[in-house]
Amino acid sequence: MKKYARDVRRHHRERLLKKRKKYWAGSASDSAKRLGVCVKTPCVCSCFLCGNKRKFWGPTIQELKKNQSDKKK
Ligand SMILES: [Zn+2]
Repeated sequence: MKKYARDVRRHHRERLLKKRKKYWAGSASDSAKRLGVCVKTPCVCSCFLCGNKRKFWGPTIQELKKNQSDKKK
């Protein structure tokens, strides 16, 4: 089972290495390191859509629920 998962992971990494050469206005393929970064993090952005949700929208509902239940005790 684990061997299969590794195969799939490698397959998708190879697939993305080919596909993402044109990302970042073509500069992802400037070096092997940049391409590797691009495979892991295609969107290098921290706007309110891509960034940390908690930073822009406040605590999550799960956290609010936990805080409320902590206050009741
Ligand atoms: Zn963004």
